[in-house]
Amino acid sequence: MQRAWIISIGTELALGQSLDTNSGWLAEQLAGLGIRAQRHVTVADDLPAIVDALRAAAAGADVVLVSGGLGPTDDDLTRTAMAQAAGVALDLHEPSVAHLRAYFASRGRDLPASNLVQARLPRGARVLENTCGTAPGMCMVVGDTPMYVMPGVPFEMKVMFAEAVAPELAATAGGAVLRSRRLHSFGLGESDLGERIADLMVRGRNPEVGTSAALGVITIRINAQADDPATADAMLDETEAAVRQRLGTVVFGADGCTLAAAVGRELEQRGQTLATAESCTGGLIGELLTAVPGSSAYYVGGAVAYSNELKERLLDVPAALIEEHGAVSEPVAVAMARGACANFDSAYAISVTGVAGPGGGSEEKPVGLVCIGLATPHEVTAKAYRFGSDSPRDVIRHRAAHLGLNSLRRAVLAT
Ligand code: ATP
Ligand code: MG
Repeated sequence: MQRAWIISIGTELALGQSLDTNSGWLAEQLAGLGIRAQRHVTVADDLPAIVDALRAAAAGADVVLVSGGLGPTDDDLTRTAMAQAAGVALDLHEPSVAHLRAYFASRGRDLPASNLVQARLPRGARVLENTCGTAPGMCMVVGDTPMYVMPGVPFEMKVMFAEAVAPELAATAGGAVLRSRRLHSFGLGESDLGERIADLMVRGRNPEVGTSAALGVITIRINAQADDPATADAMLDETEAAVRQRLGTVVFGADGCTLAAAVGRELEQRGQTLATAESCTGGLIGELLTAVPGSSAYYVGGAVAYSNELKERLLDVPAALIEEHGAVSEPVAVAMARGACANFDSAYAISVTGVAGPGGGSEEKPVGLVCIGLATPHEVTAKAYRFGSDSPRDVIRHRAAHLGLNSLRRAVLAT
């Protein structure tokens, strides 16, 4: 299988001021064509650095995709860098001059002199026409490695890739494909989970299996390499079944499925409804639930009851209970969940109260302490969880929201 390197050019990308979304998109497209992205490189608008990156890619990759730095300004250096890396001169490419002229003419403008540099291309480069912008792309062999150079503007890059690059790559890729699937889980730590599927994660296995963790959700990634899509999909199915068999209901969904969507699916199937009572998550659970299309079928809404007073007024939490146990406590979480069910007339309710930090913690109630309450048609319970006291506020809030959704998911599955 061919190995590709993907190079993004732009100071704003290298400095982290804007996010390189081109590389990930291109890597996914390549996988569909049976080409494996082996390395992503991000380089600032710096001529020697770009030339270095291009030469290294020529030596290390079978094919190279480059985006960015094709604009008309002095910091757009990709054309010059390509010429230097290949050891050739830049020539004015007359058809591209004509294209630029026509582009501006169609907008009622003369061709600005500065845009003329966009038609200066390394000798030996083949032009890839830009059907939605000014910068022509190019294909050029450096050393003996083909390189495809596309604009940085994401939608221009995507159109050029689809129209001019993908068909050529498909013709040379040799028919192999790389297909992938993701399974999402919640409730087992990454190392425990890894132990259960250790034999599937051995290096060199096809499909290959890997895990990654984010905000309590552990994602199992399965990549299958095969000669055709149907074979790859069958291999994915088989490995997916093996993973699910080991992990059971810890797995809540595949690919684009979120915890909120998984919960929603279970509630909808049972014709049940849900309300929320949120303190430290400030409506995050409601946001996650309502991000799922069709959530009105089961989610009735909720209260963001941040102050003690609103916990009392909106959720009928007894003042004495807060007085006795504190707002962040299991009894208050129970009362919040019960109040949400009763006042918002739902079958289920999730409540969250916690110390998200960085201030406000105490010996007894440290930052990262979160109480999740759960009301079901049968009972109301609550449980306290401790996240690390040094976890960022946002991490604590998101993990708490996920924990609330997963607690509900488990309760619904058990009915
Ligand atoms: P072009 O080659 O099309 O002229 P450029 O890199 O010369 O592009 P810039 O002005 O640097 O032009 O980038 C145009 C826009 O595209 C900017 O908003 C930039 O952040 C965005 N962009 C460039 N490269 C990427 C990338 N890899 N991922 C996401 N956005 C990108
Ligand atoms: Mg740029």
